[in-house]
Amino acid sequence: MIVFLNGQFVSESDAKISVFDHGFLYGDGVYETLRTYYGCIWQAEVHVKRLFQSARFIGLKLPWTQKKIVAWLRESIDRNCEVFSGESLHLQSKGCFLEVSQTHCDEQITQIHCDEQVAQVNCGESHNTVKNRLKNGVFSNFPEFRIRLTVSRGVNHFDFLETKHPTICIAPELILHEPSAVYEKGVSAITFPIQRFLPEAKSLNYLPSVLARQAMVREGAYEAFFVNPLGFVSEGTISNIFLVIDGTLVTPKDGMLPGITRDTVLKVSPFPVFERKILRSEFANADECFLTSTVKGIVPIVEVDGKKIGHGTVGKMTQSVISAFEEYIKKSHD
Ligand code: PLP
Repeated sequence: MIVFLNGQFVSESDAKISVFDHGFLYGDGVYETLRTYYGCIWQAEVHVKRLFQSARFIGLKLPWTQKKIVAWLRESIDRNCEVFSGESLHLQSKGCFLEVSQTHCDEQITQIHCDEQVAQVNCGESHNTVKNRLKNGVFSNFPEFRIRLTVSRGVNHFDFLETKHPTICIAPELILHEPSAVYEKGVSAITFPIQRFLPEAKSLNYLPSVLARQAMVREGAYEAFFVNPLGFVSEGTISNIFLVIDGTLVTPKDGMLPGITRDTVLKVSPFPVFERKILRSEFANADECFLTSTVKGIVPIVEVDGKKIGHGTVGKMTQSVISAFEEYIKKSHD
């Protein structure tokens, strides 16, 4: 992969930062996770706007324009697509995994989750050609990127306060597609009693998510939902949450990251949506449940803390919201 670091595009192995960086020392910074659909970055401007909002929450002044960062993001994807096409990336069907037989930098990515898919990017093919072929449906399964945009306050040894220059890094990587069963059959989740510090900001301090995800893995669940000391559910470790109750969608109003996928659902939902506080005990009465996240999209949740949601299957309203969301994404690429 080619990584953007402080104004330069460098190889992954050359992308190094100081051990005195505040991001490393104190979790002092903000980030975004973006993704591509059909090779184009989804909602790039909106993500960068949220990065600036998060930065304001932690008193970090960013010296670049939002436009400049969006341009760097797009260039990062273009450069990495060129790397892949120039190196002839082959994805071969292998059970329900794809295997990448060759990437650049002698790196072998061995297993990429996917269903029954074969994609091949020809040697020397330009990003635009690949994108056009994608749009025409030739490779609906072309590997997409997730992009980690990280900004820290920068370097100032052990002084907590001012630094001269923030550090900025853009690191794309291939998305590991979920098995289709995740969307077709739904997944289980747990609740976890913890709160994120400054939950409206996407700061580098994600210890609550790290702890909750450890518990989630121990329980064999797909996501963990935070519950605050008053018993209210706020969000998942990397997602927002929606419940279906009496023919309406319900989602927490505050105390969580204002998710971009959540916002999109508010826009495209064919059903009324209410933003309000949700008690953990409401899982028992919910007919359906789903999570939203940039990388995963909309994932149906059919069980929470070992108890079925509704009938324990993917509900009709969730399916309708997923269809409306997919339609919206397709349209935004026409
Ligand atoms: N909540 C948290 C804590 C997250 O980390 C994320 C995404 O990473 C989300 C919600 C979902 O936000 P988005 O839809 O913008 O990806």
